[in-house]
Amino acid sequence: MLISKAQIMVRGETSGRDCEAGQLLKIVYEEMPDCPRCSAPMSVRDHFWRVVIGMDGVRRKIRPRRLVCTCETCALHTRPQRNLPQGVVPGRQYSAEVHQAIAEGRRDVPCAPNTIHRIYRWLLSLAVFVLSCGLFMPDCENVNEVDGRAQHPLERLRDKAGGGEQWFARVVERAAGRGGGLHWV
Ligand SMILES: [Zn+2]
Repeated sequence: MLISKAQIMVRGETSGRDCEAGQLLKIVYEEMPDCPRCSAPMSVRDHFWRVVIGMDGVRRKIRPRRLVCTCETCALHTRPQRNLPQGVVPGRQYSAEVHQAIAEGRRDVPCAPNTIHRIYRWLLSLAVFVLSCGLFMPDCENVNEVDGRAQHPLERLRDKAGGGEQWFARVVERAAGRGGGLHWV
């Protein structure tokens, strides 16, 4: 799984004949990643359909690409890798923005309460895993304590990722780029 910077633009409306009605989006990638195994250039093999739901609750279809390594002796020459645009979370329908809002305890998200609860639990296990496997610089002992109590894992992850509007998308990008993708939870 690879995640790249990209612009996502509205291409048109789908009629709902073979899926729910919704917008069709076009992905314009801003970069071509190097092979995560051997650093050789990669090339586009094919595309696949994907659904993503944003903060407005609209179901949108996108068509991300799959890449292969151009080096003929590399293992990834024959194993296409999914290349999601930044803001889309591997294996999850809701966007990174929705996940971040839930991680921050916001309730203005387009999900039912039980879905929010389920996503929150997933985020918590993700935070514990990412913090434990050293994807971000380890912090010194004192930073973990706020007024004598342990800081919440999701708050700690947000701080380590630098906070701001897209900290969760950055966590996903970093984690997915380390091989294996977000399959560990
Ligand atoms: Zn390669």
